[in-house]
Amino acid sequence: MLPEIGRPVPDLLAELAALRENDLPVRGGKVTAYVYDTGRAAIHDGAARAYQEMLEVNCLDPTAFPSIVALERQVVGAVADRLGGGTGIFTSGGTESIMLAVKAARDARPVDGRAQLVVPATAHPAFHKAAHYLGMDIAAVPVGPDLRADVPAMAAAITPRTVLLVASAPSYPHGVLDPVAEIAALARARGVLCHVDACVGGWVLPWLPDVPPFDLSVPGVTSLSCDLHKYGYAPKGASVVLFASEDLRRHAYFASASWPGYTVINAGVQSSRSAGPLGAAWATMMALGDDGYRALATEAKAAADRLVAGVAAIPGLRVLGEPVAPLVAVASDDPALDVFVLADQARARGWFFQPQLAYQGIPANLHFTLTGVSAAGDLLAVLAESAEAARAAGPVPPGLLDGVDLAALTDADFAALLESTTATGMAVVNTILDGLPPETREALLIRFLSALYSGKA
Ligand SMILES: *Cc1c(COP(=O)(O)O)cnc(C)c1O
Repeated sequence: MLPEIGRPVPDLLAELAALRENDLPVRGGKVTAYVYDTGRAAIHDGAARAYQEMLEVNCLDPTAFPSIVALERQVVGAVADRLGGGTGIFTSGGTESIMLAVKAARDARPVDGRAQLVVPATAHPAFHKAAHYLGMDIAAVPVGPDLRADVPAMAAAITPRTVLLVASAPSYPHGVLDPVAEIAALARARGVLCHVDACVGGWVLPWLPDVPPFDLSVPGVTSLSCDLHKYGYAPKGASVVLFASEDLRRHAYFASASWPGYTVINAGVQSSRSAGPLGAAWATMMALGDDGYRALATEAKAAADRLVAGVAAIPGLRVLGEPVAPLVAVASDDPALDVFVLADQARARGWFFQPQLAYQGIPANLHFTLTGVSAAGDLLAVLAESAEAARAAGPVPPGLLDGVDLAALTDADFAALLESTTATGMAVVNTILDGLPPETREALLIRFLSALYSGKA
């Protein structure tokens, strides 16, 4: 409720701090997803000050605030320099970068009927979202046994309505690199565009040894997304989408003079938008420099390598695929060791391991996005200890919702069900979702979000 009379700022700040007490910690490496800690507090503090400096500047009109053009040119230029050239747009995140790349492909390649995308099944849901928002179809092609995109299967999915093929560098779930050169060559041969989703890898892979080419320098790659709010270590709201040509970039833009108000020209999805994230991303990049990113990439990969080696020594656990980046997925081979129970055990010890549901034959697993800071904590010890505790606790029995007609549940019934299932942790919820087909999972997730924001969950 809006207070009748405004409240003092110190009270409000205290209230924010109190609210955050229930949040996962954003620094320290105990949360192995969502957050990217350099372990260098001065870098994050500098970004916060730059954010505040630019906070009230509105990216809506680059002619009114030329600072945003200067900053964006530097940020996008630095990314293009590293990732094979091209020209780009600074966006609010990977989803927006992908949305713009998909829109550009649709508008650059008009087809009869609904345009279609062909993606590996491991591609980020942002492509499904883009297809959904942009009125397009999507073919998500199962990946090979190594969890990398299956190029012949992608070729078979191409139709006359296909406008774009996608490769991930790497895929988020397992950190494996798709065969970018082959997918790009296929796209070129078939006269369609090719997007490389380097949202998570784009700002770490360039500083790691022995990574096959994956960027705009690869023949046939026409666009690429790279999130600065991941391994760029900038605060959230920072990504870049690169295009091979200015012509393709123009297909991402939007202009409208079809109303009696100010003329609208937007490079991205948003219109009015704070320049805070841009200023902070610029400051983070310039403060770290090539040298800083090399050190951070090396530290993060070392943490990942340590995790991979350590998992081999924990009975029942194994790494899925061969990660090239500091992203590792860990599954269980032992029916008595339930990874969802393991995640709850880790949570009870102050750590967050991200559950990933079983999909198309890929088993349920836990995902770790690592930074150098992850090595500082005793991640492996916690993993081993939580695995042992999970085996002792036993798996969640399947079929908990058998016979329940989810569609017939009222919101109140749904909320009660949710309360009883989350009472002991998230393992029960994850097991229920794991046992359902993707469409049913999606329907349940939407009900959950609605209940959450209505204050019923
Ligand atoms: C994180 C991620 C995205 C989506 O990015 P957001 O910034 O969360 O919108 C897309 N693709 C990959 C591979 C990612 O890791």
